[in-house]
Amino acid sequence: MQKLTLTRLTPHKQTDYWTVCEVEKLFETPFLELVFEAGRIHREHFNPQEVQLSTLLSIKTGGCPEDCTYCPQSARYHTGVQNEELLGKEEIVNKAKLAKSKGATRFCMGAAWRGPKEKHMPMLREAIAEVKALGMEVCGTFGILEEGQAEQLKEAGLDYYNHNLDTAPEHYQNIITTRKFDDRINTLGKVRNAGLKVCCGGIIGLNESRKERAGLLASLANLDPHPESVPINQLVKVEGTPLFEAEDLDWTEFVRTIAIARILMPTSHVRLSAGRQQMPEAMQALCFLAGANSIFYGEKLLTTANPDNNFDAQLLFKLDMKPEGSDLDFATILEQQEQEMSAYIAENGTAELEHTLAHAHGHMSHGQTTGGCGAGCGCSHEQQPLSSSTSASSQADDPSVGHYKAL
Ligand code: SF4
Repeated sequence: MQKLTLTRLTPHKQTDYWTVCEVEKLFETPFLELVFEAGRIHREHFNPQEVQLSTLLSIKTGGCPEDCTYCPQSARYHTGVQNEELLGKEEIVNKAKLAKSKGATRFCMGAAWRGPKEKHMPMLREAIAEVKALGMEVCGTFGILEEGQAEQLKEAGLDYYNHNLDTAPEHYQNIITTRKFDDRINTLGKVRNAGLKVCCGGIIGLNESRKERAGLLASLANLDPHPESVPINQLVKVEGTPLFEAEDLDWTEFVRTIAIARILMPTSHVRLSAGRQQMPEAMQALCFLAGANSIFYGEKLLTTANPDNNFDAQLLFKLDMKPEGSDLDFATILEQQEQEMSAYIAENGTAELEHTLAHAHGHMSHGQTTGGCGAGCGCSHEQQPLSSSTSASSQADDPSVGHYKAL
């Protein structure tokens, strides 16, 4: 594999070059040794008690012309995902405010496009500027960028651009035929050249071999400089997509992938992304031990609390973790959520809560990724158990619930 070279514009130390064989060898390290070594490296660069919280909003859902075989937002597959118009600036900014009030420090906007059209740019620029003015980091995932678009986004205040490598170069054409691996590299080059930070990861569980998993990680680690954020997604199989029947991976393989990402890219934020909802708490804890230090995090939606968000806060509270770069701690966040949920139920009753939750799930990504975006869609029709503070039991029966976007 050739080294992937991007212009060095951020102050990273010189990155090492990793061959696929070297990364494959890391996969063969005894599991606990690997986790221990990753945890040791993690502690050299980060406070292991801290987790960076990003909230992802799908600003344009469904109807994507690309053919990513994992993605329910592709117009080519019948997955029940409803096409939605591009959200307006006001709605986007309101959701960002709510995310911030829940401890999120980064707000990511994703659109199911091959790439943004010029007519979209004015609204995107305005929304970015207003979210930035809230004091949050702003990330966008809008697909392939044309000349000059990265500069426009940077000028508006965008901090990060998400553009995943998806999978290994050798496996790419088995997964997506409407673009090439090199197209990803080209857009990443434009993003770096514009002075934006890079959020770039991939998806595992796409019927790739271990060698191909190693190839994806080597490709990421050979980006120079390393991506500042590295989302690692586990495929969420969605009925109607070609990868619905993909082979299951043992959970240890996902933890190994997280650990190796940490070892290869010691100063990057490694994000547990799509598929997290299907992971038991103990597995997520093991991923944090192995160096994951970022998650997608739900937020209060419309006028009601999001129970998924409540679950995250409970887990992170149990693990004695705290949000990176936020004044809030999870005990306070949980207390706030409890009060808001009680007040909402007192005012509107539980039927309205169920309706609002269904609507909210249609828009928000939580722990998933891969969506309109090249992030690798992870749409889940499986539901997390609801918080004991809610009674929205019919949520699991509503097919409109559980549409997620993965980054
Ligand atoms: S992953 Fe992104 S680019 Fe691919 S089909 Fe889904 S929304 Fe479109």
